Amino acid sequence: MTSIAKETSGLLAKLGVSPGALSGGDLGVTSPVTGEEIARVSQISAKDAGKAIDEAHAAFLKWRLVPGPRRGELVRLLGEELRTHKEELGRLVSIEVGKIPSEGLGEVQEMIDICDFAVGLSRQLYGLTIATERPGHRMMETWQPLGAVGVISAFNFPVAVWSWNAALALVCGDSVVWKPSEKTPLTALACEAIFARAAERFGDDAPEGLLKVLIGGADVGEALVDHAKIPLVSATGSTRMGRAVGPRLAGRFARAILELGGNNAGIVCPSADLDMTLRAIAFGAMGTAGQRCTTMRRLFVHESVYDQLVPRLKKAYESVSVGNPLEGKALIGPLIDKQAFEGMQKALDAAKAAGGSVTGGARVDTGDADAWYVRPAIVEMPSQTGPVLEETFAPILYVMKYSDFDEVLVSHNAVGAGLSSSIFTRDLQEAERFLSPEGSDCGIANVNIGTSGAEIGGAFGGEKETGGGRESGSDAWKAYMRRATNTINYSKALPLAQGVSFDID
Ligand code: NAD
Repeated sequence: MTSIAKETSGLLAKLGVSPGALSGGDLGVTSPVTGEEIARVSQISAKDAGKAIDEAHAAFLKWRLVPGPRRGELVRLLGEELRTHKEELGRLVSIEVGKIPSEGLGEVQEMIDICDFAVGLSRQLYGLTIATERPGHRMMETWQPLGAVGVISAFNFPVAVWSWNAALALVCGDSVVWKPSEKTPLTALACEAIFARAAERFGDDAPEGLLKVLIGGADVGEALVDHAKIPLVSATGSTRMGRAVGPRLAGRFARAILELGGNNAGIVCPSADLDMTLRAIAFGAMGTAGQRCTTMRRLFVHESVYDQLVPRLKKAYESVSVGNPLEGKALIGPLIDKQAFEGMQKALDAAKAAGGSVTGGARVDTGDADAWYVRPAIVEMPSQTGPVLEETFAPILYVMKYSDFDEVLVSHNAVGAGLSSSIFTRDLQEAERFLSPEGSDCGIANVNIGTSGAEIGGAFGGEKETGGGRESGSDAWKAYMRRATNTINYSKALPLAQGVSFDID
């Protein structure tokens, strides 16, 4: 057993995952840090996935009757368990996905934050009281639990995405069926064990089957999407996946929350504070090796500040440390796999063919043949064409010059996968126009802060092509419940439409 494999099984044991679950399975798990195999887990068949969903549905039927604030107590205990195990789970995220330690721990912190949010929410699932036109009546809106909620998650936020969905779903009275990325089953098994401990502490009110974790690939995801007892699927991943999942859910009138790709942009205006802007761009574009849905991928720089900003940005790109994230010195870890590396090289070749000038982008040799580290790439483009219009899930920043504010707003919005956006300016009119109806069309629009690093308190995401799916904060919880309008007649009369009466004697 290699040292990373040993450390992984030690961490999983501390987190409560049985060693038997980590060997002999049909799915090899590799760490992108070195490319070595660290476990072999078992995948569920589509048929058994159906059985697990039935169990989750049976759990829902009981859980929906537990009062909201009591359901919140389970999520409070989950938050406590996450606090206790933050170091181990954060380290496991770093091993399985290759995030640097602060990012691995940051992801667990987001889980803790959403638990805190959901605990408060469990006492605030408010409906409206509505003025009724009928005398002697009262009318109100009630939010009711929805069912067993499906969660499909992407590799790059292997644990946070689950928690954004699960914490809300649980306080809303729903059970959860989670299909994590096939690239990150270990962190999912760890979350399952952490949740089981919280449920045990909570007691008998938490029915068996409240959380089901289905390890498997797209076929298991499809089984979840097609199952009649799943009224809502929250799917996070590529736009390609969303295009497959969305119509299938619509075909059976199930709800979808789709959090998909992000071809996110920043605009640097003449009045921008360039030091601050530089730091925000460097973090937003290079962080997590460009493998965030909110990574900054396009940058429009006003011609008056282009020559002050872009050479400094290139210098930052050339000097940033790339390497093993577990050793704690590098700022940029590996790409997830060889396919991601090849996708990046293909995009850079296409950018060159479209007239782009590339700095960086070469492979960094760490001595491990199956580990895929790259220098982040900055590409000066003559215009927004070719690969600039698509999300490549790697650290590539396309930089373009602009001269007219109205035109740059149009260019900013001229891509499909609009998720997050930023403007850097000290001009109030530019900032407000960027946030106005004629400004950024993305689900996240920021001023003087980069595109990445969203907080759970605001609803996360809102990719424009999907109609703006929202997870986590704000009023995202409403998607996990069904709304009923209730009318109560406390009079002795039954008002009917004018001129209508029934002879009932
Ligand atoms: P992916 O689309 O390859 O896979 C995501 C998940 O979908 C996996 O669990 C996968 O097994 C499942 N899946 C794939 N095809 C499916 C199908 N036909 N039916 C059901 N399930 C299916 O994405 P990835 O490579 O794991 O993650 C990177 C992508 O996710 C990027 O595009 C990134 O922008 C996006 N992402 C978005 C957000 C957000 O909040 N908007 C957050 C994280 C990642």
